[in-house]
Amino acid sequence: MQSVPVRCARPAFGQNGLRGRSANARGYAVKVDAALKVAVTGAAGRTGSLVAQKLAQRKEDFDVRAIVRNSSSKPKLTALGVPEAAVFEADISQGSGAAFAKAFAGCEALVIATSGVPVLKPLSLIPVMWAKITGGKPAMPEFSWKEGQTPEQVDWLGQKAQIDAAKAAGIKHVVLVSSMGGTDPSNNLNKLGDNGNILQWKRKAEQYLIASGLKYTIIHPGGLIDKPDGERQLVVDVDDKLINQPVRSIPRGDVAELSVQCLKLKSAVNRSIDVIARNPGDGTPTKDFDALLSGLKANCDYSINSQM
Ligand code: NAP
Repeated sequence: MQSVPVRCARPAFGQNGLRGRSANARGYAVKVDAALKVAVTGAAGRTGSLVAQKLAQRKEDFDVRAIVRNSSSKPKLTALGVPEAAVFEADISQGSGAAFAKAFAGCEALVIATSGVPVLKPLSLIPVMWAKITGGKPAMPEFSWKEGQTPEQVDWLGQKAQIDAAKAAGIKHVVLVSSMGGTDPSNNLNKLGDNGNILQWKRKAEQYLIASGLKYTIIHPGGLIDKPDGERQLVVDVDDKLINQPVRSIPRGDVAELSVQCLKLKSAVNRSIDVIARNPGDGTPTKDFDALLSGLKANCDYSINSQM
């Protein structure tokens, strides 16, 4: 289709007066892609906040809306460059359908970075320390979940509520930051917090997203670390094959960057993948995310340990 030049006295509208249209050197309006309106949930979390920050930094491409559990997280988001008016509140445990509907209104894409957060049982540290001091049999710290914040409530029902609200709001694409390990019901993470089965509930939400008919991208990172992003080669695969790699961690910033890139890439649509990072210096830092995703033909297979 040929675009018809339109003489314009001043830029049309939006951010910097240029969103959706820009004026070329001769003063003609040239159609450019409008900034994609993207909601991020779990936006005060360690990965979610990096997603929100990256979106806020790329104003030409993205119009960010950050959704936090409560208002105490607002200053964190504004300090990262998210406009105050773009920070919304929705607590999954408070039956937040209406809050999500308000927050998602007008958005085209959603990045879900919410997760049940285990709480350490302080007394469980005593045997851990004792074993260290005496060189005896190692003990593991124990965790619990706050009332209303179990994996079933946050990772399954909370994510289901977000997917339903996204669909109702007309959102087209959902990027879900989940976790590696979902093929194996006996994965140790499922034992966390008196058998909270976090990976099982996450997998159920992933399958719900796939069945929703929305475009989806499901990212299963390996162990998350707080190291600088953009310095490592990322490796993608499916069905937890990467669990056998000697290094299977990935900086949260790299997961955030991948999530943001996926919003714009056809090769990310209707994909479910695992991702880890090599150590710095081992391989070339990943810059071409389309090549990364296009180079992997397979998708995760949900007939393995299906939760639906
Ligand atoms: P995180 O810092 O624990 O953030 C989780 C977010 O979820 C927080 O912002 C939290 O809100 C929000 N949340 C929890 N309950 C909520 C509720 N009831 N209503 C609204 N929001 C709620 O996350 P992360 O460590 O960056 O992990 C990101 C994702 O990767 C998670 O799905 C995690 O399971 C997964 N993952 C983790 C690892 C790992 O090594 N830790 C490995 C692989 C994958 P507040 O900010 O208010 O607390």
